[in-house]
Amino acid sequence: MNEYDSDKISDLMNTINFIKTEDVSDAECIIFNTCHIREKATEKVYSDIGKIKKINRNKEKPIFVLAGCVAQAEGEEIFKRTKYVDIVVGPQSYHRLPAQITNFINKRENFIDTNFKLIEKFDTLDHLQISRKPKISELITIQEGCDKFCSFCVVPYTRGPEFSRSIHSILNEIKKIADEGTKEVFLLGQNVSAYKYIDGNKTYNLPSLINEIAKFDQIKRIRFTTSHPNDMDEELIDAFRVHKKLMPQLHLPIQSGSNKILKLMNRKHTKEYYLELITKFRKANPAIEFSSDFIIGYPGEEQEDFNETLEIIKEVNFVNSYSFIYSQRPGTPAVNKNQILLEICKSRLMELQNLLFNNQLKKNELLVGKTTEILVENKTSQPGQFFGRNQHMFPAFFNSNHNKTGELLNIKIVSCNRNNLFGVLEKQGTFA
Ligand code: SF4
Repeated sequence: MNEYDSDKISDLMNTINFIKTEDVSDAECIIFNTCHIREKATEKVYSDIGKIKKINRNKEKPIFVLAGCVAQAEGEEIFKRTKYVDIVVGPQSYHRLPAQITNFINKRENFIDTNFKLIEKFDTLDHLQISRKPKISELITIQEGCDKFCSFCVVPYTRGPEFSRSIHSILNEIKKIADEGTKEVFLLGQNVSAYKYIDGNKTYNLPSLINEIAKFDQIKRIRFTTSHPNDMDEELIDAFRVHKKLMPQLHLPIQSGSNKILKLMNRKHTKEYYLELITKFRKANPAIEFSSDFIIGYPGEEQEDFNETLEIIKEVNFVNSYSFIYSQRPGTPAVNKNQILLEICKSRLMELQNLLFNNQLKKNELLVGKTTEILVENKTSQPGQFFGRNQHMFPAFFNSNHNKTGELLNIKIVSCNRNNLFGVLEKQGTFA
């Protein structure tokens, strides 16, 4: 989501005649768009500000903006800790940056804006000129914030309560990028499956939004992330059967395979409920693959709880998943609960990641000798080589003498490693 926000910040800066430079030492304004999801995010920001100061030592100080979730969480505290920051702006008020920067240029007064103004934000973003050529696969924010309050997570505090963007605003944005060449949309939300927009007497949810997006001829693939298991209903499950454009791949975080730990995390679902969902999705579309998030060493996690997490990974056969050692977020309920020794966490993480990597390698190996459909996203830096992803998001590389960007192609996979597939264009074949 920060990637999406950063693109929008670029578009906003263009409205006040700032153009993006790749050379930080050249910049008259520097914006850090920060993420608060990892531990020590705040300290890292201060350390990065120190590095920037050194780069710009011999020049007039650039205007410095701290944006994103660290800005939201730290607020006024930032001005107390460093004189280098001029403007602090949270993730739900960055649409006001052009006015804030113009104001700073005129008055040279520090400014902080950490309000949750989501309707105003998306209204402003809707009228923005896109300053770059859209990618073949584009991220689109449709929902923000979260009401779930998992005990380890800062999102409800930094992004605020659940908010769903207007369907008209989403479809307008998709129309613009589809007209410019986008072929795949990746719908984003902290709780994307909680999407709900009421328009007069009609209520749109995620399946009905997917239905509308599927009507764009230019859009060939639709994906969404991230979902909470408790927001998965029969209609959404059925969307994986009905919509051929909805890719059979779902990121569905479970975090732990132990009911005891799920309860401590305030996840409000059980392992059994999660497994029932997996069965229902597989029934709707047998080709579906699942990825997940795992937190290792959550306070109270004993060896048997961890073993249950390993069991669920084997049972579901997850691919492409994220796993991290639990790290404390100030202000969340899990802070200062009995921490698991770091050595134990590291060893559990290694065991779990090995299992996930092996799953991925086996899936990749199963594709060798077979044909898989790739949406070609770009040319790589290697001469004649192109990069794309298959329906399950597995990265694939192949060679061609012609520009294939944006095409949906059948690629015959000839080799793989744990992370990537390598193939040939089907009709080209190989000879020796
Ligand atoms: S559902 Fe996701 S975003 Fe919401 S509190 Fe839990 S982990 Fe955070």
